[in-house]
Amino acid sequence: MTAELICVGTELLLGEILNTNVQYLAQELADLGIPHYHQSVVGDNPERIKQVIEIAINRGASILIFTGGLGPTPDDLTTKTIADYFQTPLVENREIRADIEQKFAARGMKMTANNLQQAFLPVGAQVLPNPTGTAPGMIWQPRNNLLLLTFPGVPSEMSSMWQGTAVPYLKELGWGREVIYSHTLRFRGISESALATKVESFLDLTNPTVAPYASKGEVRLRVCARANSGHEAQKIIQPVAQQIKEIAGLDYFGADQDTLASVVGALLSQAGETLSVAESCTGGGLGEMITATPGSSAYFQGGVIAYSNQVKINLLGVNPDTLEQYGAVSPQVALEMAKGISQKLSTTWGIGITGIAGPDGGTAIKPVGLVYIGIAGPDGILNSLELKLGNKRDRSSIRYLSSCSALDNFRRELILRNEI
Ligand code: ATP
Ligand code: MG
Repeated sequence: MTAELICVGTELLLGEILNTNVQYLAQELADLGIPHYHQSVVGDNPERIKQVIEIAINRGASILIFTGGLGPTPDDLTTKTIADYFQTPLVENREIRADIEQKFAARGMKMTANNLQQAFLPVGAQVLPNPTGTAPGMIWQPRNNLLLLTFPGVPSEMSSMWQGTAVPYLKELGWGREVIYSHTLRFRGISESALATKVESFLDLTNPTVAPYASKGEVRLRVCARANSGHEAQKIIQPVAQQIKEIAGLDYFGADQDTLASVVGALLSQAGETLSVAESCTGGGLGEMITATPGSSAYFQGGVIAYSNQVKINLLGVNPDTLEQYGAVSPQVALEMAKGISQKLSTTWGIGITGIAGPDGGTAIKPVGLVYIGIAGPDGILNSLELKLGNKRDRSSIRYLSSCSALDNFRRELILRNEI
């Protein structure tokens, strides 16, 4: 038993509106545990709507859920086209006709003939009432093992009909006893393909399923289980997630809502330590990431945006000779910035970032995307990292990835130090 979503509307194909109905219904299907592998968007065209129905049935769908095209205008042809496909005549449904007439009368509006088009349903179909609009949907089993549900395109009408009638109906059929629960594992410092290779043996599992996907500055694995309750689903996910974390080692940084900044924050809180930052090329982006975590004031003191050499010298105590000898974009300056800020703000740790975000300012020796991160910590810890983010990336990506790398490198430093 699988479901397919079929959204009808040329405006969707033209990109005039965002297909929020598909997102809503997809989440609802997952909550009910109804498997669903395909979604289609099709214009207001009878032949193509029929093709989509044919394809869905041929690939084994047993529940077809339509949205859009139920209204009174000539381009609203979903119901008629479905009836045609199953070679079933339309008959007027008195209940719907009375309801439409009553709604128009109540609003003091004049009804036109085409409004009554909505009162026609295929023989054997049942009304799926629409309490807030005029176009009702239908529930129809044109043949064994095939259920059709239609909804108008207007999202608020669709969702109230879904909740009011479709969900109880589907539960009556036995759906909704299972849940689909997903858990996202997040990684940094490894490419999607390298991670997929490392966890290859998990990618063929069916419950839970494991699927990789890349996201800006990180790679994720979605571990998804089907079970009778959320608790049971978690029990299915847990051992697989645990094995994957062990395989990934330090490249795994967190799950679900965790961010690099929140993970770093938790490590600092546990250790009772504090952090400050000195940022050149990221211009405050690192501080922004850190302070996006609620409660960051417990471990984050603040920072300096040290864009010019003068600020690096005057506020951070960077040695003018270091700047002269190695240049502002150098590991030496990143380290002096980190050390300087941690001393000025009396924090356990300091992070310094200096680099060339581009698009101008690069040279053959120091190209755009060259970034140095310095970390200064207790017991004289001093570490620097060179990033080559490449000149193909734009300025905002270089800045964003620099901040991510700084946090990730710091996270690794904190974990390794705890392990000693
Ligand atoms: P109506 O009775 O309002 O004509 P309908 O069933 O004929 O409803 P459409 O005419 O296809 O539906 O769409 C009505 C409106 O609903 C669209 O203008 C659009 O704003 C919205 N809509 C349609 N489909 C979607 C969708 N998939 N996601 C979000 N909004 C949608
Ligand atoms: Mg319409």
